[in-house]
Amino acid sequence: MAVPLRFSTPAPSSRLEEIIPGSDRIEELSDSSGEYEDMGTATVEEQAHIAYLNSVRIPITDSLETATSRMDDKTAEIILPFLEGNPDGFTLNTFGIPKLQRESHAGALEAFLGDYPARVAFMDASRPWIVYWALQSLTALGIDISAYQKRVAHTFSLAQHPDGGFGGGYGQLPHLACTYAAILSLAMAGGTETYETINRKTLWHFLGRMKQADGGFTMCPGGEEDIRGAFCAVVILSLTNLPLELPPDAPARKRGLTSFTDGLGEWISKCQSWDGGISAAPGNEAHGAYAFCGLGCLAILGPPKETLPKYLNVPILINWLSSRQCSPEGGYNGRTNKLVDGCYSHWVGGCWSIVEAATTTGLWNRTALARYILSACQDEEAGLRDKPGKNSDAYHTCYNLAGLSAAQHQYKYDENVNKGLGTGNLGAAYHWKTEGVYDGKNNVWDEGDVVKTIHPVFVIPYMSVYEMRKYFEEKEGF
Ligand SMILES: [Zn+2]
Repeated sequence: MAVPLRFSTPAPSSRLEEIIPGSDRIEELSDSSGEYEDMGTATVEEQAHIAYLNSVRIPITDSLETATSRMDDKTAEIILPFLEGNPDGFTLNTFGIPKLQRESHAGALEAFLGDYPARVAFMDASRPWIVYWALQSLTALGIDISAYQKRVAHTFSLAQHPDGGFGGGYGQLPHLACTYAAILSLAMAGGTETYETINRKTLWHFLGRMKQADGGFTMCPGGEEDIRGAFCAVVILSLTNLPLELPPDAPARKRGLTSFTDGLGEWISKCQSWDGGISAAPGNEAHGAYAFCGLGCLAILGPPKETLPKYLNVPILINWLSSRQCSPEGGYNGRTNKLVDGCYSHWVGGCWSIVEAATTTGLWNRTALARYILSACQDEEAGLRDKPGKNSDAYHTCYNLAGLSAAQHQYKYDENVNKGLGTGNLGAAYHWKTEGVYDGKNNVWDEGDVVKTIHPVFVIPYMSVYEMRKYFEEKEGF
């Protein structure tokens, strides 16, 4: 992490000079080195922000200049003014931080659910995702989405493939990512008629075709096998309460597997990289979104307290996740040496509820993340974004708001919650609750900036999760 440009550059201490001569040394920043070169006409609030940013920056920086470090410097130069001041002129909350711009974000989300011009045709295969991101974001803002119920059911009834699973739209081949987004959207839309549009028998067969002999899942027939497949498959199996036995025509049966969960925990275990993160597939580089997929998968396979230590080295995982929180920006990056990005507010920020359910609380800086989201990720026009200078979109709006929810609410795993639900297959994830809004040091949000609670594993509202599972638990047969 390079030094943010508005911090004055310190001289290395003489002690360090003695130890490591020349340009190869690591520069050490002394405690007194944080003054700004030009405080300009900073307001009292801005001075407080600047003092805060100064207090959380990483005190040691690598002096080696690379394309990556230059990009990091440039990014800090773009982002810091948004953390220090209020360049877009938003209304501020009592902490001098931009308020959550609910109305403009809601307007953008409603537009995302509308018609698209021809130039967006390339997004056609991602339609289920756009519907999911927009609906989930609207519910996070506390907006009633019941007006979309019939449209959602109709859209996905056309996207359902005759051989099982969902594609991007009518006539498209089924894919696990589309099926995941479709099932979550249908859960949010809710209602018996909506649930009954899902052909669970063909869905079961489709998932059976995705199961691989080594325990993992492919994303589509003949497609890549990665941890997204594992997570999407168990989310779908769990929410629709499908039998865990592999269908008779599942190819993995020929290799001796009988259940969807055979070898799955062991396969996820192999995805943990040497540095503690979780990668797409064994041997790959760790990545924030894959970390969430792996942890989400384990939180569905069983209580986090049991499954995380069973299949992962939890201490090095915590180290890797902690290292993703950028300083002084406060948001997360997705990989080592990459830039802060609002979508990792969820992909990494969302990991903490599951990790803390297996270990202890207080492992991460919630308010630093909320500060990044509210100050730097709200688009002046509408919606939320990766970082200043990037356009807002449905994806970043959804995952910034989900990350904000993870920061603001204390999600707890409690096996005494919903005792009557999730007693059967893959039922562990139905025992989560919310223990109030976090109120800690350096808090940056007012009541009006607090988003709704979101189920920490399924990433849709709690009620949507519980109602869909309950419906399919009570239903007999397919
Ligand atoms: Zn992003």
